[in-house]
Amino acid sequence: MTKTGLLPDEWLVSYASGSLSEAQSLVVASHVAYHDELKAKVADAEAIGGMLLEGLVPERMSEDALERTMKALDNDADEPEPVAVSAASPHMPPPLASYLGKDLDALKWRFMGPGMKQVKLKTYENGERLWLLRARGGTKMPFHDHRGTEFTLVLTGGYHVGDKHYTPGLIELAGPETTDHQPVIDAGEDCICLVVTDAPIILHSMLGRLVQPFIGL
Ligand code: ZN
Repeated sequence: MTKTGLLPDEWLVSYASGSLSEAQSLVVASHVAYHDELKAKVADAEAIGGMLLEGLVPERMSEDALERTMKALDNDADEPEPVAVSAASPHMPPPLASYLGKDLDALKWRFMGPGMKQVKLKTYENGERLWLLRARGGTKMPFHDHRGTEFTLVLTGGYHVGDKHYTPGLIELAGPETTDHQPVIDAGEDCICLVVTDAPIILHSMLGRLVQPFIGL
């Protein structure tokens, strides 16, 4: 990751090419909505993808041909849209707002653990889970490891993991290589995050493992 909290290019290209799952696409689209630089990258990837489909770009392109194409696209680029957070849902990027169709406070938040509530949005046949986490300021999330990929997009508040700090619009990407993961919520307002996991996490504590089937993580 080039900059903490911004998705690396390979994920943006996968998103632009339509190869992410529905849940991952929603999280990536919501993340991109916060950042003009990422919108531009996605637009470029979509344009290149479109040209490849139409046979306008040879599959084997030299580096400078790609660069020239990108430059041509840049010259064509529309003015960047203003950062999009609708007035009706100030904490929600437009893709999430239209997916939910209601404000975060209008959702049914269920107890998940001390200081933590969740809304399960969707569980897919392949085991993927899309959900919202709401954690009180100062909460330490339970230590866990990952069997799959975990995307966490911050909507309100913030948290840190070690010396990395995540605030609204930033995304954390964790995977099997991310061990002993323990986000610590910043003091102050609730931290609400949109999360997608593609496999159950591995909780370290006995209590965590006991409640895991009930909270469905
Ligand atoms: Zn994690």
